[in-house]
Amino acid sequence: MKKPKFIFVTGGVASSLGKGVTIASIGALLEARDFTVTIQKLDPYLNIDPGTMSPYQHGEVYVTEDGAETDLDLGYYERFTSATLARENSVTTGQIYNSVIQRERRGEYLGRTVQVVPHVTNEIKNRILALKKNNPDIDFILVEIGGTVGDIESVPFLEAIRQFRLDQGAENCMYIHLTFIPTITEGGEIKTKPTQHSVKELLKHGIQPDILIGRTHSILEEEVKEKISLFCNVKKSRVISAPDIRHTIYELPRIYHDEKLDDEIIQYFGLQEKSPLFGSFSNPVLEKWDKVLRIHEKTEKIVKIAVVGKYIALHDAYRSLYEAIMHGGLANDAKVEIVKFSSEDITTGNVADMLSDFSGILVPGGFGSRGIQGKVTAIQYARENKIPYFGICLGMQTAVIEFARNVLGFSGAHSTEFDPESPYPVISLMDEQVDVSDKGGTMRLGAYPCKLKPGSIMEEEYRASQIVERHRHRFEFTNKYRTEFEKAGMIISGTSPDDSLVESVELSRKNHPWFVATQFHPEFKSRPLKPHPLFAGFIRAAIRYSQDNG
Ligand code: GLN
Repeated sequence: MKKPKFIFVTGGVASSLGKGVTIASIGALLEARDFTVTIQKLDPYLNIDPGTMSPYQHGEVYVTEDGAETDLDLGYYERFTSATLARENSVTTGQIYNSVIQRERRGEYLGRTVQVVPHVTNEIKNRILALKKNNPDIDFILVEIGGTVGDIESVPFLEAIRQFRLDQGAENCMYIHLTFIPTITEGGEIKTKPTQHSVKELLKHGIQPDILIGRTHSILEEEVKEKISLFCNVKKSRVISAPDIRHTIYELPRIYHDEKLDDEIIQYFGLQEKSPLFGSFSNPVLEKWDKVLRIHEKTEKIVKIAVVGKYIALHDAYRSLYEAIMHGGLANDAKVEIVKFSSEDITTGNVADMLSDFSGILVPGGFGSRGIQGKVTAIQYARENKIPYFGICLGMQTAVIEFARNVLGFSGAHSTEFDPESPYPVISLMDEQVDVSDKGGTMRLGAYPCKLKPGSIMEEEYRASQIVERHRHRFEFTNKYRTEFEKAGMIISGTSPDDSLVESVELSRKNHPWFVATQFHPEFKSRPLKPHPLFAGFIRAAIRYSQDNG
């Protein structure tokens, strides 16, 4: 087993500074230097996972290949790197206490008093070490500590990572602290005091940061770096600027590279021999990131996509989806403009006014009955006006409901999630879900294989006959209606390999240019350097639509 290097990232002064994208960018830079990485998040809340939280509280629930419901930061980690993350990459205080208490009940602490130090801190350290055990060849394990230094909740995590360096040796562990460096008036003096206080707070927990990253409006001047260096006891070259991004978060690997963040990490760990310092090595991966940037900076070839969803007021609630749509643009060398609509606002009276300006319509996943009718109306509009349509999860289920009502004439067709008494329950509960009462972690979750129908749009886009995609749902297409749908022109283009579950539907190319809906969530597997084929296909169809329709 290799001896991996550990990098811990904490945050100070304010929340929402972008620790997730920062650690993900560090992962991207290390991969660009040919190291392998995995990234873990330690979240200081008491929920076992965010699966039971409202998207408005927590943003989207990101689903891993092995079916864990995790923090959306894991989405950034996967999008910025080539790592495939698993359940163990997402740890919460709730999980830590849950396992400590279960062990206590089993008598495993042999009569001792169970305490935060060492029992809770040991459990935290074990969770970090589990990544090493399960990834024996990994070079770097990056760990993000959620929350802000100074919060009551993060104290056990800080104590655990302090001890961790003692256990593993300073030469194998590094602490990076991300803080906020405000300017009081526009263009005015930049204030380093909050950063000084934040570092003092970390010192109280026995942690001296090795690298400081300052979120600011623009690149930090040399004298500001000098001041921070002096007061915070960090070498000047290890004070790194994180200026506001101009177009996209995918600028960050380039920004950090130009600030020599990866050089400093390499030097700290003495890895220069394996990976020469900046200046002496060319970097094909960074060039790919630069290409991503160039497309975002473009102004021409903008394609407009309408997202008709439920939790649209919060961008984070559909974070992976919006990212995947942008990746679809990258695949077509086009910039995408996304306009969000709350499906509650859409009616048959106003749908044309709302959506006629768009070259593609997408209905994403969701739960609960609010706004379902608006989605059905938007889908009918897309189908009848031959506007490219992409439905995901609930967006597939509502496409099926729409087709049942308006093409098959099944009046009152519905999902039993919303109308248990529907005369045409075209979407219904999966058999294994009927007796489930617990809400947390009980849906159909994670990656499942799906067989694609020869000649379908799905097969054409994926260039494969079998694929694997991630799920998060309880309801599914009701099998007894399959033949009627197919006869009326809805193609069942993807099924589980044993044919028992419908995983995707589409309309024949003869009747519609691009109408595809999937029960799974393809957005979780899209990456800027590797856009997902369905998003690439959807945006390609949207560009063609806008060309054909002026
Ligand atoms: N509410 C639907 C179900 O549980 C769809 C879920 C989703 O869109 N993620 O099946």
